[in-house]
Amino acid sequence: MDVFSLKLPEFFVDRADHMSKILLAAVVFCAVINRPYAAMAECANSSATNIAQLEYPRGQADSVVVDTGNAKKVVSFVKVGTLAIVEGDIVLGDARMLKDATRVEGAIRLFDGAPITDSSGMHPFGKVLKSVLSGPDRWLNGLIPFEIDPALTPDSVAAVRQAMAAWTKVTPVRFAERTFDLRSTYPDFVSFTTGEDANACLSDHIGRRGGRQSVRLVRGCGVGQIMHEIGHVIGLGHEQNREDRDQRVQIVMSNIPLQYEGQFEKYTSDYMDRGVYDFDSIMHYEANAFACDPSKPTIVPKGPLPANVRLGQRDHLSAGDIEAVKGIYK
Ligand SMILES: [Zn+2]
Repeated sequence: MDVFSLKLPEFFVDRADHMSKILLAAVVFCAVINRPYAAMAECANSSATNIAQLEYPRGQADSVVVDTGNAKKVVSFVKVGTLAIVEGDIVLGDARMLKDATRVEGAIRLFDGAPITDSSGMHPFGKVLKSVLSGPDRWLNGLIPFEIDPALTPDSVAAVRQAMAAWTKVTPVRFAERTFDLRSTYPDFVSFTTGEDANACLSDHIGRRGGRQSVRLVRGCGVGQIMHEIGHVIGLGHEQNREDRDQRVQIVMSNIPLQYEGQFEKYTSDYMDRGVYDFDSIMHYEANAFACDPSKPTIVPKGPLPANVRLGQRDHLSAGDIEAVKGIYK
């Protein structure tokens, strides 16, 4: 039997910049997780370098406790370069700042459990952050201002524009280039920028964060990966983390390294599941995401997949993706 301990740091989270909201927590938490020896041995025998997908970057596991005001929530993350990453490709903040008990920008609000009811009369499908439906994470009129970092390669710029076009072609979402003259018109915007030292395609937030938020791209982040990251910007979470996922897929924990188990945490009160589980979603992980042994799956559908559906496709927006976003921004 292996025993793994997580020792969590004291920290303070300040989100007063745009939200006039402050989250404070100073908690030390210890978790002991027991796993069958056989499962750990299987992981130990395979190389961590197998985990190579750009949306599933490797890193060191850590966690923090977030105080949402009425509850404390343990948030597991993976350190990739300087960044704290949750769910593979969503940036929680600067990992050093988390550890140093100072400031976290923005994305911590992802875990704010403030109750937001779906009183808008909208009928979203899929998995949508509640605060995108009727709260502060919503893009006004579905308009997403953006900047493109001149440091991006021409190929990446072309891929960004194709990815935006894929969404605007089939949903009410629109993008507006935040030129110099429009800076004051669009204070909240997405910056498509370079990935720095994190070898991954990443999004800072789910929905509108307020101020600048980044989609971070490295060489290799193609149109499909960027469509996925834009899905986060619009307000979509990962399909396989829906609250109802256990009825549709089995998560094979024995093939997932211990430090990545947190990446498969189900969404609970922060999110809203609507419509049927969508195996074809561009927001779904592929079958062997985070696998110790990538020849074996970490996500196994319960029952046959619909015809021509492949988990983790990054080719197209599924009918469910389109309906979800139409439901948010119609
Ligand atoms: Zn993602």
